[in-house]
Parts: sequence; structure tokens; C-alpha cells
Amino acid sequence: MKFIIGNWKMNGDMASKESMLKSLKTVKSGNKIVLCLPFTLLCGKNNSGISIGAQDVSFHENGAYTGDISATMLKEMVVEYVIVGHSERRTNHDETNEIVRQKATTAIKNGIIPIICVGETMEEKNAGHTTSVIKKMLLESIPDNGEFIVAYEPRWAIGSGLTPTTNEIVSAVKTIFETLPNTMPIIYGGSVNKDNARDIISIPYVDGLLIGGASLKSDTFLPIIKAID
Ligand code: PEP
Repeated sequence: MKFIIGNWKMNGDMASKESMLKSLKTVKSGNKIVLCLPFTLLCGKNNSGISIGAQDVSFHENGAYTGDISATMLKEMVVEYVIVGHSERRTNHDETNEIVRQKATTAIKNGIIPIICVGETMEEKNAGHTTSVIKKMLLESIPDNGEFIVAYEPRWAIGSGLTPTTNEIVSAVKTIFETLPNTMPIIYGGSVNKDNARDIISIPYVDGLLIGGASLKSDTFLPIIKAID
């Protein structure tokens, strides 16, 4: 079973969510499909058979943290997964590895599986530092215990239309596999579309895909799901 995880970022409304869930209900897939939605779209009925995820969580349990959302609040919305340490949060909200680790730990404590994102910048890649950057991010971002997913997302591949070569993905995910203390699913994210999804999912150690832009519309998301089945 592979993971096919959509990340809607700050996009969508109730109508587009309902329309996507309706389309997903028609798809028969042996894989695990997850839709990571903005906080405002987490409530409401979901009888589509797919899992719902959030895109961030506070590491605090509750209290005076205006604008933040706790893991217990997410749990009440029947959220099963949460993305932590996405490069857009690391860049736009100065999230450090330590913050990511605390968020992942809080999610696990509350029965939510964190999807922990790691990946190098183009400058780091060009300097030949991909392996050391990924190892450091991973070791500092993963919790001590519990179940989680690691998403290898090269920062330069997100939303750019660029993807690493097969060898580059093999090398990165193998590094992650060998650095993790226990076996956890490792997924790839960054400019996945219906034309490259099948090739990427066939790469050794790749247990799934994290999909941003192409997960927003059923005519780009469903072909990816079908291509992988
Ligand atoms: C992402 O933001 O996690 C992502 C993979 O985006 P995209 O597929 O648009 O590159």
C-alpha cells in the first residue's frame, strides 16, 4: 500500500472540498489517500473513505496562543495526519528542526500521525550538501518514539515544475531510510503530476507521494491516483 497525500496549502473552499470528496468516492484504490486541508475545511461530513489531514499543529496542548490550533482540536475534527515542517512553514514562519520535532511529538501523543518534511535548497544541492542537510534535518526533527511518515521534499522542486533525477531521489530516500532508527514510510514530494507519478512511486524506498498543486483539482489528482494503482 502506497500513500497518496494531497496538500491543499491555503487553497480551496467548502464547495471545492465537497466536490473533491465526491470525486474521490468514485475511485477504487488499494492505496491510502489523504487530503491535507486548510483548518477551515476540516469540519463537515466525510463519507468518501479517504483520510483527512491538517497542514500544521501547535506544539502546545492549549492556552494563550492566539491563532494556533492544538492537536486535540484537530483530533475532534477526525484528523488522522498532520504535515509538520513543510518548507513553506520553515521559511515563512521560521520553524526550526526543534519546533518541528515538538510538533511531531505532540501530534503523536494525541493519536495523529505527523508527516515530517525534510529537503535541501538548490544552493545546498549545488554545493553537494544534500545528504548531510537531510541527515541533520531528520535527526533533529523526528520524535523519540511513535509512528510517523517522512516526506522528502527538495525545496527547489516544490511548485517549480522541476524534479530530481531518479538517482537523486534514490540517494536521498536511501539516506533517510538508513538514518531512521526504525522503519517508517518515506514519501516523495515536489512537482509530482500524472506523467511522473508512476515513475517516482516505482523508485526503491519510496512509499508514497506528497502532492501540492496537482491535488487541487480532480482532473489532475485522480489520474495520479489511477496511475499508481
Ligand atoms: C508541497 O507543497 O508539498 C508540494 C509537493 O507541492 P507541489 O506538488 O505543488 O510541488
